[in-house]
Amino acid sequence: MSGEGESLNASAARFGSDDNQLLVGGHTLGDLAARVGQTPFYAYDRRLITQRVAELRDAIPASLHLHYAIKANPMPAVVQLLSGLTDGLDVASAAEMQVALDTGIAPELISFAGPGKTDTELAAAVAAGVIVNMESEGEMRRLAAIGDRQGRRPVVSIRVNPAFELKTSGMKMGGGPKPFGVDEERVPRMLAELAALDLDFRGFHIFGGSQNLRVEAIVESQRSTLELATRLAAHSPVPMRWLNIGGGLGIPYFPGEKPLDLAPIADNLSDLCERAARELPEATLVMELGRYLVAEAGIYVSEVVDRKESRGEVFLVTNGGLHHHLAASGNFGQVIRKNYPVCLGNRLVSPDTERVTVVGPLCTPLDILADKVTLPRAESGDLVVIFQSGAYGYSASPHLFLSHPVPAQVLV
Ligand SMILES: *Cc1c(COP(=O)(O)O)cnc(C)c1O
Repeated sequence: MSGEGESLNASAARFGSDDNQLLVGGHTLGDLAARVGQTPFYAYDRRLITQRVAELRDAIPASLHLHYAIKANPMPAVVQLLSGLTDGLDVASAAEMQVALDTGIAPELISFAGPGKTDTELAAAVAAGVIVNMESEGEMRRLAAIGDRQGRRPVVSIRVNPAFELKTSGMKMGGGPKPFGVDEERVPRMLAELAALDLDFRGFHIFGGSQNLRVEAIVESQRSTLELATRLAAHSPVPMRWLNIGGGLGIPYFPGEKPLDLAPIADNLSDLCERAARELPEATLVMELGRYLVAEAGIYVSEVVDRKESRGEVFLVTNGGLHHHLAASGNFGQVIRKNYPVCLGNRLVSPDTERVTVVGPLCTPLDILADKVTLPRAESGDLVVIFQSGAYGYSASPHLFLSHPVPAQVLV
């Protein structure tokens, strides 16, 4: 193993090792690569996902429902696994909704968010009976018309764009002018209009942002969310039965980042659940998480094709890259490129190390998987592992760019 810091050691320790190789789902990486039959591939470890959910459940109040936001990793096998471990699934497209329905969970445990839902998508959602998180007044009117046509009562909630925002979130999705949700100040008027429509209104969805590692910001945002929902509930024609308070819990990717301390978040959630039980007694409280549940359970594996030197620097050219893992290349929301934790999965430790840059096969200088990292001296055929790759990897990457083969995915 190289000296690239705490996050790398923590990542490798989570998976475990045997015979100087990384273990994934109990298989050495070499055996797993042989079983998959190709590189590159993504591998997700069932035990680590299960463990993560169990740890979280242990910490948070029992009355708080935990949903999985499947856009983080929509691989059907992963969604199936998480459907059994969580209380529901959140989807952001009609195709994701089909994957969620295929798990066999009750449609009322699925909620469908996202701006720009087409009439076709809305009709499918109404026919399925999932909760539609309405992102605008226009969407509400279209849903009511679709309900009339189908002779069904659409199950709905309003996604609220709060006036506050989740501070220091990696990707802000609330506060200020946004395409997501309905501005909180417009919600009372929307509820008055809703009261005259044939819609089964359940409550609110308030999602502040993603990848937050600051406990105080998360606690404050969750508190503000409940306060906002309670204020808006006073304008509802029916009692609140559902409140999705979002999530946004982050994971450490880069040197210096620390895993979230769950204890203060859980304490605050207990407090909020008690308050909700008094103020919104019929409401089920839901926290929705994507990345936090799956990111640390996944790796991306590519194979060294060429080892070359250029003016004093060593480049490991692999058969994987930006087209499979945009986020690790630094081109998915990063301002300054930083390395994900990386190792040689079939040769974890060696006395013979060197400083290398790991790149992909694309003809663009953006195709970097790891910039100037210390690894055991690598040969062609060695397996480069990028950790923290279980979320926003496979499905968040431009597979078509340069027309290379797509990676495989396995859940082990
Ligand atoms: C993306 C998204 C999530 C998941 O965010 P994570 O940071 O992966 O937990 C949850 N809810 C909504 C509405 C989203 O758009």
